[in-house]
Amino acid sequence: MTTTDLPPASLRLHIDADALAANWQALNRLSGSARAGAAVKAEAYGVGVAQALPALLSAGARDFFVAHWSEVPAVLRHASPLQLSVLHGVNNAAEAAYARAIGARPVINSLHQAQVWAQAGGGACDLMVDTGINRLGVAPGDLAEPVIAALDVDLLMSHLASADEDGPLNARQLARFREAASQVPHQALSLANSAGIALGRDYALDLTRPGLSLYGGIARPELADVIAQVVFPQAAVIQRRQLAAGDSVGYNATFTARNELEVATVSIGYADGFLRCRGPGGALQHKGIALPILGRVSMDMTVVDCSAAPDLSEGDFVGIPFDLPVVAKISGLSQYELLTTLGKRFLRGS
Ligand SMILES: *Cc1c(COP(=O)(O)O)cnc(C)c1O
Repeated sequence: MTTTDLPPASLRLHIDADALAANWQALNRLSGSARAGAAVKAEAYGVGVAQALPALLSAGARDFFVAHWSEVPAVLRHASPLQLSVLHGVNNAAEAAYARAIGARPVINSLHQAQVWAQAGGGACDLMVDTGINRLGVAPGDLAEPVIAALDVDLLMSHLASADEDGPLNARQLARFREAASQVPHQALSLANSAGIALGRDYALDLTRPGLSLYGGIARPELADVIAQVVFPQAAVIQRRQLAAGDSVGYNATFTARNELEVATVSIGYADGFLRCRGPGGALQHKGIALPILGRVSMDMTVVDCSAAPDLSEGDFVGIPFDLPVVAKISGLSQYELLTTLGKRFLRGS
């Protein structure tokens, strides 16, 4: 038999769509009288827009955020352009023309962007005011400029720099944002990301913009009991082999077997977002049994000690630990990095 159909993938990303929907609903509830939107930039934080959008829409989400114009078409396969804001705004005539043609709202971030938008003919937009992150957004002192005053602002927003901490900056940003809101006509106000939602109702205003916690990230400890894991990576064993005492494993021979050892080579590596820092002290999983990682993680493969799993066979799938706060702590990577570096070779599905 010959076929050009692709054989089954040796890397799977199981997405728990029910958990994703429940996470949105929990964040929407915690937002009080505000409604929760959803940040779906960077392929819905690595989950995949095609997987995440249907679940978010069925949960009730109606307001979506991406960063780049290149991310717009994937979202529009599921949602209306009226539901979509593009965080990086319009930096040139080509972006403004595309925004107008498609009907998605640019988030205006500077006087220059406001000019670009006005010159293209303008229309409904969002406006980002920078209240202290000093990254992207119009400075509060520039809000009275005529080109800003002339905008048709739907969502007036700002972004918290350290909502995951308890310093004085959060309250200062909220106060500056309220001040800005009194100066710029707008339809609705939005300040809180995932962590900001956990800061309390004062921060929720009209619309919240969770990202990380939709996908299982614990942005603040208050969310630990509310948010469930969404992403479960699995990789196939592509070889099982026996090492003799003195054999080493992997690039640069950083592990040497002291005794005979049963090992398995697993089809995941740093090209899949399983970075080298996940190697030392880390383990993969098989039916609740830990399979310690041996030697360096390479681009497409990771070798594990499988002496505790005599039944593990070539073709079996092993679990890649992905409890985000736990793995972040062990690896030194942020929960955001763990999600957004998930590679393209995973077959994403529920
Ligand atoms: C990415 C992003 C969010 C979502 O933040 P999380 O910390 O992932 O919840 C919200 N607002 C803006 C402007 C963003 O860039």
